[in-house]
Amino acid sequence: MSFYTNLDLKSQYKNMKRRDFIKRTAVISAVGLTGGFSLVSLLGKNKKHYFRPPGALEENQFLAACIRCGKCIQDCPYDTLKLGSLEDGINIGTPYIDFRDVPCQMCADVPCIAACPTTALNHDLKDVNKSNMGTAVITDREACLSLNGIRCEICYRVCPLNNKAITLDKHEQSITKRHTVFEPIIHKEFCTGCGICENACPLDKTAIKVLPTERGDKAAHYILLREQQT
Ligand code: SF4
Ligand code: SF4
Ligand code: SF4
Repeated sequence: MSFYTNLDLKSQYKNMKRRDFIKRTAVISAVGLTGGFSLVSLLGKNKKHYFRPPGALEENQFLAACIRCGKCIQDCPYDTLKLGSLEDGINIGTPYIDFRDVPCQMCADVPCIAACPTTALNHDLKDVNKSNMGTAVITDREACLSLNGIRCEICYRVCPLNNKAITLDKHEQSITKRHTVFEPIIHKEFCTGCGICENACPLDKTAIKVLPTERGDKAAHYILLREQQT
């Protein structure tokens, strides 16, 4: 059996205080020295992806450049842009899009960019369709009405770039062999990520979603489905 002397306990306590002090000092200096950018990464446990207005910089750069003035939100004629709230953590005060609520109409004159007084939104963007906000993906193939042989195809019909960004592939239903399926196929090289299809899907839980571009390819689609099922 071992006994701690008062001296041992005192020195352990001192060591603990010293470790605690070093840790706190490291955090405070990291915030102090590197400013908001590091604060973002320190608080960056928030993994939710926010879709930003067209022309937005890469997320960390965007968060550093955006001064939370809300001018892009004010000037959007469709009320597409929302203001990040307190519960959104690091997103507070920044503009984001919820496609299921209001999609982006990809205005040719891009008023949101014109209104931005900083470089958070790319003022050199000439063609809004090249802003690459994301890529639509059929995320729930089991629920998609068209894939179940029902003539829905709403996502195809509402797409402003249909027959380019989204086409219909006509084929026989593999189980019944009697029905024809009109499968919506998204072509990521043309899809702008406007979210009009996601907004229009008539299911309670949409079967088509805009994903961040790096996840919006077919492989990522299956990974996403696996993630949802596990
Ligand atoms: S492109 Fe038009 S609809 Fe889309 S966010 Fe900008 S102003 Fe709003
Ligand atoms: S206008 Fe620019 S700086 Fe202002 S909130 Fe919008 S993106 Fe941020
Ligand atoms: S997000 Fe949907 S509606 Fe918009 S271009 Fe892509 S497929 Fe078409």
